[in-house]
Amino acid sequence: MSEEASVEYRVIEGVAVVTLSNAPVNALAPGMREGLIESLDRANEDGAVKGIVVTGAGRNFIAGADIRQFGKERKVSSSVSTAVLDASRKPVVAVIRGYALGAGLEHALACHYRFATPDAKLGLPEVKIGIIPAGGGTQRLTRLVGPKAAIDIIISGRHVSARNALELGLIDRIIADDVALAEAIDFVKRLPEGKGIRRVRDMNGQIENAKANPDDWTSARDEAASKARFVQAPHSALACIEMAVNGSFEEGLALEQSLFAELESSDEAKALRYAFFAEREAAKIPGKPENYKGEAVRSAAVIGAGTMGGGIAICFADARIPVKVLEASQEALDRGMQKTRDTYAAKVKRGSLTQGEMDESLAYIQPVIDYEQIGDADVVIEAVFERIDLKKEVFEKLDSVMKEGALLLTNSSAIDIDTMANATRRPADVAGAHFFAPANVMKLCEVVRGTHSSVETILRTTKLGRDLNKISVVAGSCDGFAANRSRAPLVTEAMLLLEEGARPDQIDRIMKAFGYPMGPFAVSDLSGLDVSYDTRKRRAAADPGYRKLHVPDRMVELGRKGQKNGAGWYRYNPGDRKPIVDPEVDAIIADVARELGVEQREFSDDEILHRLLFASVNEVCKILEDGKAYRASDVDVMWLYGFGFPRHRGGLMYWADTVGARKVAGLVEAWHEQFGKRWRPARLLLEAAAAGLPLRELRAPGV
Ligand code: NAD
Repeated sequence: MSEEASVEYRVIEGVAVVTLSNAPVNALAPGMREGLIESLDRANEDGAVKGIVVTGAGRNFIAGADIRQFGKERKVSSSVSTAVLDASRKPVVAVIRGYALGAGLEHALACHYRFATPDAKLGLPEVKIGIIPAGGGTQRLTRLVGPKAAIDIIISGRHVSARNALELGLIDRIIADDVALAEAIDFVKRLPEGKGIRRVRDMNGQIENAKANPDDWTSARDEAASKARFVQAPHSALACIEMAVNGSFEEGLALEQSLFAELESSDEAKALRYAFFAEREAAKIPGKPENYKGEAVRSAAVIGAGTMGGGIAICFADARIPVKVLEASQEALDRGMQKTRDTYAAKVKRGSLTQGEMDESLAYIQPVIDYEQIGDADVVIEAVFERIDLKKEVFEKLDSVMKEGALLLTNSSAIDIDTMANATRRPADVAGAHFFAPANVMKLCEVVRGTHSSVETILRTTKLGRDLNKISVVAGSCDGFAANRSRAPLVTEAMLLLEEGARPDQIDRIMKAFGYPMGPFAVSDLSGLDVSYDTRKRRAAADPGYRKLHVPDRMVELGRKGQKNGAGWYRYNPGDRKPIVDPEVDAIIADVARELGVEQREFSDDEILHRLLFASVNEVCKILEDGKAYRASDVDVMWLYGFGFPRHRGGLMYWADTVGARKVAGLVEAWHEQFGKRWRPARLLLEAAAAGLPLRELRAPGV
C-alpha cells in the first residue's frame, strides 16, 4: 500500500468499522483491496463482532479505482474484493458520504445494505474512460435497480444524487452526516442474531419484472447502442446488462471480466484516459503561489445582453450566482431579457426543466441600465460588440465604478487583452474569459492571460469557469488566442481544398466518419457564412499579406449566408435543418477555380483529413513556441470542449501521435514546398519529429 493509503479496523460496540483512507478522495490504491479483505476476514473470525460497517475517511466513500493503474497488472482486482464483501457471513453496511463512483460504488453494491448522506453522489462512469465496471457492477446494479435504470446510469456515467438513488432503490436510506456512523452501528446491533445477510446477487425481483416486460428496457438498450457509434465500451456494458437479465450471476461476472480485459488496453480506452488526465493537467497553473486559497465569486455583472452576454448570464444563474446584466439602452435590455426567458422556456417545453426551476433561475438575473448599480460585483464580464473603441470605453467605465479587487473580464474573441487592460488603472485584474457559442451550452472557458494579468487573476478566473460548470483552459493573448488560432488553419485548408476540387459534403462526410458530430461546412451554415466573411474583410484590411479565401467570399456575395436564409454550403427546406447537397454550390466553386486557374482534381479521404488536421497540428506547435498555451494537451482539451473533437481520439495532438510526428512533419514540409508560407513548419514540430518525441507532451518554454 502507498504511504498515504490505509485501511483502518476498529470495533465499536461489537460492530467492526472498516475505514478506507487515501486522501483526497479515497481512490483505491494498490493494497487497499487487500486491506479490506483482511479486515473482513478478521471481523468474520471474531466471535465478539456482530456485523461490519464499511466507510471512507473524510468527505468521500471511494471515488473510484486509481485510474493510473488501468492497463497495468493488479494483484487483487475489485472482482475479488467485492466477492469477499458479498460472501461475508456477517451483515455488511456501506456508509456512503460524497463520491461512490466506479469501483467505489461496486464495493458499496457488494455490501448488504447501503446508507448514504444527503450529499452522496453515486455512479459507474467507466464507459467514459473506455472500459466497463469489472467488480460485478453491471450485474449487481441491474439486479438492484432493473436494466432500464442500469442502462441509464452506466451508459451516461452520470452522478446519481442520494435522493434519486433512494427512489431507484440503489440505497436503503438517507442518513444525516453527523450521525451516519452511529446510525449504521445501531442498525447492525438491532439486526436479529444470525440474520440480516441480504446479498444483491440473490435479488431477482427486478430481473423477473424485466423478463415479463422486455419492451420496457430493450428500447432503452437499442437507443443507447445506436448512439455509441464510435466506441465499444457502451456496447460491452449493454451486453453485460443483458446477461444480468438472461443469464446467471456467475455468467454475468465472467462476461464482465472478459469484456473488461478486451477493453482495458484498447486504443479507445488509452485515448479516453489521456483526455481525462489532460483535463486535470489543464487545471494546473504554473506560478501558483503556495497555499493559495482563492475566494469564490459570489456576485457578478455582465455587460451586453446579446448572444454571448445572455448565455453567460444564464451560466451564472444556473450556478446560483446572482448576476446583473447591463445594456446600452432599455430597449436592448428588454430584448436581451426576453431572449433569456425564451431560452429557459424552450427547456421547459422540452421537459428538461420545470417551470419552478426556470423561475428560480430567472430570479438570479437582474437587468440594469446604470453602471453605478454593478460596482459591488465580485466579477464583471464584458460582452459588447467586437469593436476596439467600444471595448476601451467600457473598460474605462468599469475601472471607475468597480470595487477594488473585482475581476475585470472580457469575452472578446480576438482583441488583445492588453488593449482593455491598458484602458484601466488596474491591468493586473484584467483577463479574458472567452466562452464559446452558445455560452450556456458549450463547456469550454478559455482563460486569456494579458501581459499584465496577475497569476491570482488567472487562478480566480479559472476557478470561476469551473464554478460555472465549464472546463477552464489558459491561453495567451494573440490573434484568436489558442483555441481559435489553432483551428483557423483547418478552416482555411478546408476552403482552399474546395478550389482544388474537394466538395463540401465530401469533407463533411470525412470529418463525421472521423467522429465529429458535424462537418465544418454544416457548422459554418449553422453559425452563418457572413460572420466569418466580415472577420476576413477586417483581417484583409489590416494585413496586406492576408490570404484571400475566394470561395466563401463568393458564396456570401451571392447571398448564401447559411441556414438563416436557407442557402449556404447546403440548401435547406423552410423550417428544416437537414442539409441538402446543392449542385449550385459545385458550380460556384468550379467558377472560382476556373477564374483562379486552379486545376480541380479528386482527393482521397486520407489526404483531406491530413491536410485539415496537420495544418492545425503545425499551428499548435507555433502557439507553444510563442508561449500562448502552456501545454499541447491543453489545446487538446480546448478542441474537445470548444470544437466537438471526438473524445475517443484523445485530442488533436494525441491523435497526431498515432499518425507519428515524423509523418506529420514530412507532409508539412512537402506542402510548404508546394503551397508556400502558410505551411511553414514549426520548429517544435521538426524537433519532435527528429528526436522521436511525442507531440502531445510538447510544452511552452519554461512550463
Ligand atoms: P451581440 O451583437 O449579439 O451582442 C452585443 C450586445 O452588446 C448587444 O446586445 C448590444 O446592445 C450590447 N452593447 C453594445 N454596446 C454596449 C454598451 N456600451 N454597453 C452595454 N451593452 C452594449 O454580440 P455577441 O455575439 O454576443 O458578441 C459579444 C462579444 O463576444 C464580442 O466581443 C464577440 O467577439 C465575443 N464572442 C462572440 C462569439 C459568438 O459566437 N457570437 C463567441 C465568442 C466570443
